[in-house]
Amino acid sequence: ADELDAVAVRAMLLQVCTRMIENTDRLTEADQAVGDGDHGIGMRRGFTAARDKLEALEPASVAEVFKTVGTAVMAQTGGASGAVFGTLYRAGATACGDHALDAATFLAFLEQGLAAVQKRGGAVPGAKTMIDALAPAAEAARAAQADGLAAMIRAAADAAQQGVQASRDMIATTGKARTLGERSLGHPDPGAISMQIQLAAMQDYVAG
Ligand code: ADP
Ligand code: MG
Ligand code: MG
Repeated sequence: ADELDAVAVRAMLLQVCTRMIENTDRLTEADQAVGDGDHGIGMRRGFTAARDKLEALEPASVAEVFKTVGTAVMAQTGGASGAVFGTLYRAGATACGDHALDAATFLAFLEQGLAAVQKRGGAVPGAKTMIDALAPAAEAARAAQADGLAAMIRAAADAAQQGVQASRDMIATTGKARTLGERSLGHPDPGAISMQIQLAAMQDYVAG
């Protein structure tokens, strides 16, 4: 599909919610290695709330669908990641307007979402956060601009996966993991994994 209307975007984001809920244990283990172990539970709480809101929604616009997810995640997750992923979806929503989701709009979603996360949380690339998956994803999406929505989401998901791997070699300087210092080396960032799971779920939706 080269364009998704609001109903299709809702279905895509329901897939994102399902995947995040399914990956609770993996995210818990990732945060046990470098943080306080609550990332899986928090994401499950946030994306369960988002799923419930989406199921009840008769979406009038793509922006409304993204905003619904962001608001639920922000309100229900708790912890740093609630504000971070809530901000991504809420700020990204403002890039979407009331037309269908196409490649240009998805690029704007990622870039505006990234800018808002950086502004709110103050983390820079390389600080071992979800930005280390989201920033390369946005960059890859920009490079794939001419290739259409499905190819763009694939490129973004692939880049996020590489970002997760790269985050293993980073020393956390933001958030809970910063107190570990060099002991965070060798483990990927939990929030980066979450970002990758979300983009991979979107990719599977548009590919399937
Ligand atoms: P907490 O750290 O409060 O326990 P979580 O465990 O749910 O919250 O989420 C941790 C994740 O949040 C980290 O792995 C990181 O990716 C992300 N994170 C934390 N602080 C920031 C920030 N300032 N900017 C971007 N992402 C952040
Ligand atoms: Mg945590
Ligand atoms: Mg915590």
